[in-house]
Amino acid sequence: MACKVALVTGGGSGIGAAAARLLAARGAKVGLIDIVEAGMTAVCAEIAAAGGEAFSIVADVSDEAQMRAAFERIATETERLDTLVLAAGINGVWAPIDDITPAEWDRTMNINLRGTYLALHLGVPMLRAAGGGAITIIASVNGQRTFSTTGASCYSASKAAQLALATQLALELAKSRIRVNTICPGSTVTGIGINTFRRNTDATRIPVQFPEGDVPITGGKPASASDIADGIAFLSSPEARHITGAVLNIDGGQSLIR
Ligand code: NAD
Repeated sequence: MACKVALVTGGGSGIGAAAARLLAARGAKVGLIDIVEAGMTAVCAEIAAAGGEAFSIVADVSDEAQMRAAFERIATETERLDTLVLAAGINGVWAPIDDITPAEWDRTMNINLRGTYLALHLGVPMLRAAGGGAITIIASVNGQRTFSTTGASCYSASKAAQLALATQLALELAKSRIRVNTICPGSTVTGIGINTFRRNTDATRIPVQFPEGDVPITGGKPASASDIADGIAFLSSPEARHITGAVLNIDGGQSLIR
């Protein structure tokens, strides 16, 4: 089915913003959810200037009341939802396991995993009501194939859990004609640096060396957000009608050598 109305969490920056622009360019009306308003305002203005349609809602994806209010707003903006792209996430604190605090652990888990759950919990009934749809969850090569990112234990665990959740739901939601897929990006140039805090990571560093750069396909250059958005648009499109429960690594081969 065509992607008619799409909702993108984390739509104000990076991968979510690139996905929102691309889905709008391909004809979808796009709703954005983000905790930061400014980025979404800019993305919506760009989409409108290009002749597309978009609206934005400020909400913390980990907060049940805010997400319930966001979905009530969505119901006033559009009568249907066909596509969910779940890109809101943080790197959080990267630190040794005996250093990262319970509060730091909970914050990363709440945004990355609880936030994914809440968007699914509230969004799936709308996809079902539309007769089916596509969900793409943005996990990471961390937690799937890459475990050498020093101090990233909580982040990796949150991303592995997103992947398990997506795979489980691919089966659970198949009878509702809802496809659920996961994209695992490698290193991608986005705004995630402002949500990354490294502490004492040298204490657990593993000696790995990539003399010719750690992204084989580009000689070391990381992905752009639109490299990832192309995968999101494909998985959200009718061309991916038979694809569910899939994991698409978009990392230029980076995870093969990590
Ligand atoms: P980004 O920081 O550019 O975008 C993430 C967006 O999520 C931001 O706009 C941010 O404001 C929003 N956000 C953060 N906390 C939120 C909250 N509580 N509620 C609502 N919105 C919130 O980063 P990005 O790289 O585009 O990240 C998108 C996804 O891609 C993340 O899940 C990240 O884990 C994943 N990822 C990124 C990379 C990378 O190298 N950039 C690699 C692998 C996976």
